Amino acid sequence: MQVTHFTNHSLPETADGFRKLFSDEEACLQFLFSKRWPHGFECPYCNWLNKDQLPAKTMNCSHCGHPTSITTNTIMHGTKKSLSQWLICILWFSSNEGGRSAKDLQRLLKLSSYQTAWTWLQKLRMAMAQTDNRPCQGTVEISSDTISFGGESKAKASILAAAEIIMPAGITGRIKMQTIDALNRESVENFSTDHILPGSSLILPDLEAYQKIDSKSFITITSQSTFRTRDILKSFEIWLNKIHRGGVIAKHLQLYLDEFCFRNNAEMLPDNGAVFDLLLSGVIKKKSLSYKSITSKPVKG
Ligand SMILES: [Zn+2]
Repeated sequence: MQVTHFTNHSLPETADGFRKLFSDEEACLQFLFSKRWPHGFECPYCNWLNKDQLPAKTMNCSHCGHPTSITTNTIMHGTKKSLSQWLICILWFSSNEGGRSAKDLQRLLKLSSYQTAWTWLQKLRMAMAQTDNRPCQGTVEISSDTISFGGESKAKASILAAAEIIMPAGITGRIKMQTIDALNRESVENFSTDHILPGSSLILPDLEAYQKIDSKSFITITSQSTFRTRDILKSFEIWLNKIHRGGVIAKHLQLYLDEFCFRNNAEMLPDNGAVFDLLLSGVIKKKSLSYKSITSKPVKG
């Protein structure tokens, strides 16, 4: 078997072309191998580089002898499903700007288990969060609001949101959102430290919780109108309830916020192929994920 090195020029140009490519398990193996090890197989145990290693489901290192699966150290590992199903799922989830539910994925891949579809999407949301770790910068607006997400249970959550304002047009750039226990000085300070680059100018609501933001790190501007982030929070609430119809519980809410931010921030990428590449990089780079938070029973939505 020859190693096929996929480059941007040798990849299909359309989603249909990708679906056709990914319908073949052998082509998926070649594709993933070239994405994971573009310069030749590198053993994850001893870092030995073997440029002659051919793609295989499991490869034995020629230096230390350790076996490595094509899915080792990725979120696809241990799921007993085909690479074809995974890649079609990643393509579908990355190209669908509005986002869809586990029921849609169950139908797409004809999975017998709703739980499997749900768990895969939770894993992809975690991969989305991992790829989207650049802080907001420049001129950044912050505010918070309470959103309803629990359907009949009428659950509510407080969320802080940050949005870059790209000058001179004043359009919204990258966004970050996070659930908080309560709006106070500590939660605002932690959020700004985690998600905003020092030196940025912050537009803040005229509320006490925002008054103690570190003035050495940020230039702060108090404003009466933080409509931009409030609109984003409202959009998130509508999006979540439209797709999942009350099927999200509080402890999973952050994953849906991460998905929403990823999709917003991906709009600045040149095309759908770049969004797919970004999500795939999160899928294959992730070394260890905490599955504890996603192993409880899903609520159907
Ligand atoms: Zn090795």
